[in-house]
Amino acid sequence: MKGKLSRISGPVVVAKGIEDAKLYDVVRVGEEKLVGEIIKIVGNESVIQVYEDTSGLQPGERVVSTGEPLSVELGPGILKSFYDGVQRPLQGIEKVAGSFITRGIDVPALDRKKKWEFKPLVKKGQKIKHGDVLGEVQETEIITHRILSPYSGTLKSIKAGKYTVEDVIGTLDTGRGKKHDLKLYHRWFVRKPRPYSEKFPPVIPLLTGMRIIDTFAPIAKGGTASIPGPFGSGKTVTQQSLAKWSDAQIVVYIGCGERGNEMTEVLKEFPKLIDPKSGKPLMERTVLIANTSNMPVAAREASIYTGITLAEYYRDMGYDVSLMADSTSRWAEALREISGRLEEMPGEEGYPAYLARKLAEFYERAGRVKTLGTNPREGSITVIGAISPPGGDISEPVSQNTLRVTKVFLGLDASLAHRRHFPAIHWLKSYSLYIEALDPYYKEKISAEWPSLRDEAMKLLQKEAELQEIVQLVGPDALPEKEQAVLVVTKMLREDYLQQSAFHEVDTFSSMEKQYLMLKNIMHYYERIMDAVEKGVQLSFLTSLKVMEKIARMKEIPETKMKDIKSIYEEIDAQFEEAIKR
Ligand code: ADP
Repeated sequence: MKGKLSRISGPVVVAKGIEDAKLYDVVRVGEEKLVGEIIKIVGNESVIQVYEDTSGLQPGERVVSTGEPLSVELGPGILKSFYDGVQRPLQGIEKVAGSFITRGIDVPALDRKKKWEFKPLVKKGQKIKHGDVLGEVQETEIITHRILSPYSGTLKSIKAGKYTVEDVIGTLDTGRGKKHDLKLYHRWFVRKPRPYSEKFPPVIPLLTGMRIIDTFAPIAKGGTASIPGPFGSGKTVTQQSLAKWSDAQIVVYIGCGERGNEMTEVLKEFPKLIDPKSGKPLMERTVLIANTSNMPVAAREASIYTGITLAEYYRDMGYDVSLMADSTSRWAEALREISGRLEEMPGEEGYPAYLARKLAEFYERAGRVKTLGTNPREGSITVIGAISPPGGDISEPVSQNTLRVTKVFLGLDASLAHRRHFPAIHWLKSYSLYIEALDPYYKEKISAEWPSLRDEAMKLLQKEAELQEIVQLVGPDALPEKEQAVLVVTKMLREDYLQQSAFHEVDTFSSMEKQYLMLKNIMHYYERIMDAVEKGVQLSFLTSLKVMEKIARMKEIPETKMKDIKSIYEEIDAQFEEAIKR
């Protein structure tokens, strides 16, 4: 019996009598064979969300199940690709800017013609476990792709040489005489997290080189962060900076744009970015998934699952992956639209009641793990999700439910951007729940005094906010000298430490060691200025010390000249001693 379309409502259609209809199976809808997914079954009726434009569909057209859930292709060729939400390749920006891919056409995600040089790392007769590395392919100039076995069994044959992803590179006896061909790729269902053997606690930071993040709101490898994106607050620059400098090897960027051109800009920019570590294009280790507003909402809904499945695959190879989703609000709106078409009972602000669960399930797929396999590897996915609350008001459901599950909040602040304080991530609005878990790492790798230095600095910045309220009422001169001195130091913290230009060759990245030395100098200056004020030295004299200029320029000192930052510590001492003696 053939399924027949009975109702069409935008991206959601209903078909009667699909043979073997199963929840979440992919179906081909209508004469044009549009790709859809069964999301609800009632009696012999299947409700389907369609990943392509449904205009022109008519009741009575046929619907056939493929018998398989929505899946992605995992193999060499993912990196450097632009995909839509269901992993169909987008050729060039023009198509992204223009319309979506021609309807109903089967475009394989991975190039079927390209040949890859496969180097096996296993031998005939060897016992293979699911997740074992069968061999390697140089996927891009900087990333080696590990071919993972999708099954367990005994290796009957394995070949070396140049093959396409469809060529058989070996066979595996999976028991009871059952044989499986091995290829350079396999498929995986996007809504099913890829398995691993163990999840580790978040005790290693994902170092970003951005001082505001690494110092005050650190993200753990395998952790989750959210970042609100008011327009013009530097979200794009921040994300590009994170993509370039974070110590993750693979970048997965999922873009859900509001307006078509918003995404186009990102897609135009990304290919131009240069990876600072290798000097090669950043795309060599990046995959982009794009949804513009003119693409069907259902594909947008699927895109975050497609993205995270690709991320899990590289994690399983043993890589650290950073996944950026921009913005999850647009994704949630897709969910809302589909839910509305399904005539489900709406929850808060029209979002479905399962919004919270869906968001939690998505962020839950982040983590640093021990992989499957005989020689397990360690890999991680760090998820950084942007949210774009209407009017910047984070009391709305998407922001609230995101904040509940993510552990770092990077509070991009429009007023800071307005004052040209970049990155415009506000130190008092941002937080990280990983700080305590990460402190042992910092103590061991950076310095035993790092946590207390950082906490002291944060206390000063909080104090500044209080003092500023008073200053606004009565002016700075009404404050006692000691409190005025605090304001001198907090200005230093803000301008000489937290402000960081993404466009300055040196300043764009600070190693943890550099951050430590810089902060140490500023906090040392704080100690000395408080002491000197107590001893009766005039504040105006202290703030004219030459060393202040040096502190202001610390950020421009390259990593190779760390001793020049170190020596400022002694200069502070020397100049204060002199000041006190006078
Ligand atoms: P958004 O994506 O939020 O609209 P952008 O990321 O495009 O904003 O940033 C707007 C402008 O702010 C940039 O063109 C740049 O001049 C400035 N800017 C943002 N972040 C930084 C930074 N970290 N360093 C220097 N300038 C920045």
